[in-house]
Amino acid sequence: MSEQNKPEVLKMELEALSKNEEFARVAVVVFMARLNPTLEEVDDVKTAVSEAVTNAVIHGYRGEGGIIYLEVAVIDQEISITIRDTGVGIPDVKQAMEPMYTTDPDGERSGMGFSFMEAFMDQVEVLSAPGEGTAVTMKKKISG
Ligand code: ATP
Ligand code: MG
Repeated sequence: MSEQNKPEVLKMELEALSKNEEFARVAVVVFMARLNPTLEEVDDVKTAVSEAVTNAVIHGYRGEGGIIYLEVAVIDQEISITIRDTGVGIPDVKQAMEPMYTTDPDGERSGMGFSFMEAFMDQVEVLSAPGEGTAVTMKKKISG
């Protein structure tokens, strides 16, 4: 593997607080700047990170706090972002990812978070187990 193809990695641990959502978003954007993204690509990644972190805070940890693990890797022109929690987990990932599916009891959420992640990123993979937590990995090629 040549020097050029080595992944560059950023790892962060964040407290699962709503106010840290912005921090995660900004950190990813600064890290991806080395790929010379377009403004549209930056916006797409920001939205996807925001949705995944918000899900970890409100669903994974039910607003009660915990640690969110953020890992960003860039290799060549691709960015890969993993947002992981050790919260309640998702019993049926396929169902959870359907547009407009939400377990929010107050009807305040639209159930579109995963749909946005899929629309704005090239690839979204969700690994989850009830009682163990959830890891969302999203990839996108940046035009540069
Ligand atoms: P919106 O994102 O539009 O505000 P939402 O969060 O309910 O609404 P999605 O982000 O698509 O919609 O998530 C769908 C469902 O998947 C959630 O209602 C929740 O039940 C489950 N879910 C998503 N992320 C997690 C997570 N990290 N831990 C546990 N459950 C999750
Ligand atoms: Mg959501």
